[in-house]
Amino acid sequence: MDTEKDRKEEEKKESAPQNPLEDLRRNLEGLFGTKNVRFEFPNAPMGEAPEPQEKDNSDEVLKRIREFSMKPREIRDYLNRFVIKQDEAKKVLSVAICDHYNHIRRCLENPEAESGEYAKQNILILGPTGVGKTYLMRTIAKLIGVPFVKADATKFSETGYVGADVEDLVRDLVKTADGNVDVAQYGIIYIDEIDKIAGRGDVGGRDVSGRGVQINLLKLMEDSNVNVVSPQDMMGQMQMAMNARRGKKQKRTISTRHILFIVSGAFDKLGEDIQKRMNKNPIGFTDDAGEREDREPSDFLKFAETSDFTKYGFEAEFIGRLPVRVACESLKADDLADILVSSEGSILRQYRDDFAGYGIGFNITPEAVKKISELAYLEKTGARGLMTVMERTLRDFKFELPSSGIKSFELDTQTVDSPKESLKKTLSENIGLRHSAMLEDLTRFREEFLARTGYALNLDDKAKSAIIGKAVEEDKSLMTVCENVFKDFEHGLAIVSRNTGKSEFDITEQAITDTDKFLSDLVVKSFKEKEADGH
Ligand code: ADP
Repeated sequence: MDTEKDRKEEEKKESAPQNPLEDLRRNLEGLFGTKNVRFEFPNAPMGEAPEPQEKDNSDEVLKRIREFSMKPREIRDYLNRFVIKQDEAKKVLSVAICDHYNHIRRCLENPEAESGEYAKQNILILGPTGVGKTYLMRTIAKLIGVPFVKADATKFSETGYVGADVEDLVRDLVKTADGNVDVAQYGIIYIDEIDKIAGRGDVGGRDVSGRGVQINLLKLMEDSNVNVVSPQDMMGQMQMAMNARRGKKQKRTISTRHILFIVSGAFDKLGEDIQKRMNKNPIGFTDDAGEREDREPSDFLKFAETSDFTKYGFEAEFIGRLPVRVACESLKADDLADILVSSEGSILRQYRDDFAGYGIGFNITPEAVKKISELAYLEKTGARGLMTVMERTLRDFKFELPSSGIKSFELDTQTVDSPKESLKKTLSENIGLRHSAMLEDLTRFREEFLARTGYALNLDDKAKSAIIGKAVEEDKSLMTVCENVFKDFEHGLAIVSRNTGKSEFDITEQAITDTDKFLSDLVVKSFKEKEADGH
């Protein structure tokens, strides 16, 4: 089927109108060798109209922004469906997002609003890894329908020659918006690991360029115009020029004025510093006192002040451009359990969907939820630990169960403790089901063989047992074993059929245990029959 598709693709390519840019790309790729260099064209290839669907979608995004009327509480309620805890962050972000998009709406209604004083609500989110910082923002971007990109601050360099250029972030946003600058200008850019570009001097000589990157980011966060095609992108520049010659209107620059910037970081050291300061002077620490032993340095990040950030190594102007600051809490084992069972984006749901793809359901015991969460907590990677533990627990189940005939199983503490033994037990308890699943596979193979060749294979009971036995012994799927055993049958049976006119064949155990002999005997016999008939 694939070859048929490939052929059609080839034909399409051949009959396609000449595209000079495509030719150029082929030539260049030929010159450099495609394995090492790939020439990407950021926008749709010249001459091709954009997909109508994409256009409709961007109109809808723009309409939604023009008519933005959400209230902070609505955004918070939506976030609650997916993100567990982080109540303060949810509130702060909901307000900032509403302010930001309300301001954009006002500017669209009345362009004079642009010139008024308005401090953009760029946001700084602090907190340990895996607690939902990105997830919060991704969920918000999805709700509003604006493009979202994420990158680590560490990949940028001051000059853009060694590392990436911060302006690439804006270009990535345009790509995410399918090249639509009008949509991209209202998008959200998320920069993680911002703490690593503080000039604290302990990041392996990065302090100088860290400061430079801060300054570059600062320009971007304010209001600057970025070239949609990077000056270094030769191919992009040429495409732009050709499009212009063909009269295709294209925006050359994108303004960052309405792009919302979110920066985030774990700020481990900062949490420790504040913890030390507050332990010296515990008066300031009055909220939910009593659980203090339970506190991690990251729980002190919410007390960070501007001076803490400048001491940490941030430029005062940089931190000043991040007026909205909020800390996310660390997640305890109970929170992880909550995420597992009640978040709409929970990894457990994903596993349920994955298994449901094979018609398999599972029940998870409350004890298993507790156990998984406790193990995940020990990973110290926030909710990401849940993925690690779930993967470890169910990896082999995902591989084995689809071929086992099992339609349901129980995920209990034993499964979490020793997944391999538990799987073995489940499989052996349901060996009968595996047998019937294999019989179903056999029927499927015979039907496909009949459709393809026109020959019916009638296996007797012993032949069926033999082929199932072979699959078990070789630890292969029944389909693979069938394809192997019967690989020469299409050809052999064609001869037999020509000699005898038969299209149905009785297959005995010998066909499985001594395939070549079975088939050659069948062929020889058919010639004899033909001869006998002739006389
Ligand atoms: P980070 O805080 O490092 O940005 P992420 O937001 O990327 O972490 O979290 C990784 C994944 O863990 C998310 O995609 C989500 O599935 C899950 N997750 C993290 N925190 C939460 C939370 N508070 N509630 C629900 N799921 C969460």
